[in-house]
Amino acid sequence: MNFSSKILEDAVNEMSQLPGVGKRTALRFVLHLMRQPEQQTDQLSTALTRMRHDLKFCKKCHNVSDGDLCEICSSPKRDETIVCVVEDIRDVMAIENTSQYRGLYHVLGGKISPMDGIGPQDLKVRSLVERIKKDGVQEIIFALSPTIEGDTTNFYIFKQLEGIDIRTSTIARGIAVGDELEFADEVTLGRSIAQRVPYESSIKN
Ligand SMILES: [Zn+2]
Repeated sequence: MNFSSKILEDAVNEMSQLPGVGKRTALRFVLHLMRQPEQQTDQLSTALTRMRHDLKFCKKCHNVSDGDLCEICSSPKRDETIVCVVEDIRDVMAIENTSQYRGLYHVLGGKISPMDGIGPQDLKVRSLVERIKKDGVQEIIFALSPTIEGDTTNFYIFKQLEGIDIRTSTIARGIAVGDELEFADEVTLGRSIAQRVPYESSIKN
């Protein structure tokens, strides 16, 4: 692609770094922004800068947060005795959208996947175990995607919890095997949490 402006070229190149955005689409975005009032583009770039520099991760559950603790962990309305273990922050958003869960979360930051070189040490498993011991957590709900990697991760965590007096459950498989959690519709996902089953019975099947 030939540009008559280095500034334009830089903007297109940066925009095309986004997943699923090729040079052509990037150019369309940039031309669109050029037609917008300057103030609007400034707001976009400020939002991006703040997101990158100021956004934090909750010290307790590793969800995104504006402060040390996220809104969910610091809410007095949430049930601190239940912790739902999820892969990433998109799953927190998906479950929150169901409005059916009042407990807390623990964001692992991925799932065990030897193919991708992700092992247990790359995930927030240790902080989960520490939390359970320290915070009086009574139930853990595994809500990882029902894939081989998700199952492996559940089982690894389950093993780490041996000897700790805690209920472990897994979301009901209303979600088809292999589906990613974030794509489940709200009703199905809400029902899957409400109808969760004891983890040990789920691994016998
Ligand atoms: Zn939190």
